[in-house]
Amino acid sequence: MRSDDIDKEMEISCPYCGETFLIVDPPPNERPCTLDYDCEICCRPLELTVEADGSVVANTN
Ligand SMILES: [Zn+2]
Repeated sequence: MRSDDIDKEMEISCPYCGETFLIVDPPPNERPCTLDYDCEICCRPLELTVEADGSVVANTN
């Protein structure tokens, strides 16, 4: 297995509660994309925009 195949994690900063948590990084061929994700700390719904370069922005939904 190439190291590229290993799922990476990225750190998300929740815009609701300010806490950070990790999500599995979408593979490069699926970027850019938007993910619906619930904050692991406060469980509120987030919309995560993952850019082609792997940077991520968390928006309130
Ligand atoms: Zn939160």
